[in-house]
Amino acid sequence: MPTPLHRRPGVTVDQIKAKRQRLVDTLKSPEHNARVPTREYGNHDPRIAPFPACTCGAPARLEQTEDGKWDARCSSCAKRISHPQKHDWAACLEWCQLNMEQMSYQDLPLFDIKHRDPAPARARMVPIHEDLILRSQIATLDLSINQRTWKQAAEQKAPGIEHLEKLQAYTAWAKFALRLIKVANEAQQLDETCEPSQLPSSPSPAS
Ligand SMILES: [Zn+2]
Repeated sequence: MPTPLHRRPGVTVDQIKAKRQRLVDTLKSPEHNARVPTREYGNHDPRIAPFPACTCGAPARLEQTEDGKWDARCSSCAKRISHPQKHDWAACLEWCQLNMEQMSYQDLPLFDIKHRDPAPARARMVPIHEDLILRSQIATLDLSINQRTWKQAAEQKAPGIEHLEKLQAYTAWAKFALRLIKVANEAQQLDETCEPSQLPSSPSPAS
């Protein structure tokens, strides 16, 4: 993956602002807005994520690594997330993706997809996910601009960190919701191809 613009050496605040403006133009365009069903995702704080037991039955463990990141793994078998994450909620959501058998998109407390079938749930989530990616990119550039222009002591957090973290958390939830919907959709198609009428008639008992 190429280095994002705001991390490239020598990039100027003006260049970041120009890129930000292009993204904002897309975000505000009528075409984009016509596709996005909502930006109200629900009351649940996305930084609180589910953390199910491992599919082997053992409890999962969430631990902070020496460099302050978060690792999630099974307390019994070898299952663990591929990379420790900066945020605990991100480690939990990565863990969820390894244990999807126990979860359903209809249990997610966000995005109002509880009562929707897989196809309409997906139709709702695809543009919400794209919108969140765009908003996260803009918030990332906002934070970068703030950090470069912030006059206070270096250890103070530049404004925008919490806003960005929430958007990133919503984005990770949206990605996870789409994966769960895909699983549900595949299960539904499997059900439909296995309708009793299409199954071979059961063998008659041996005489
Ligand atoms: Zn396990």
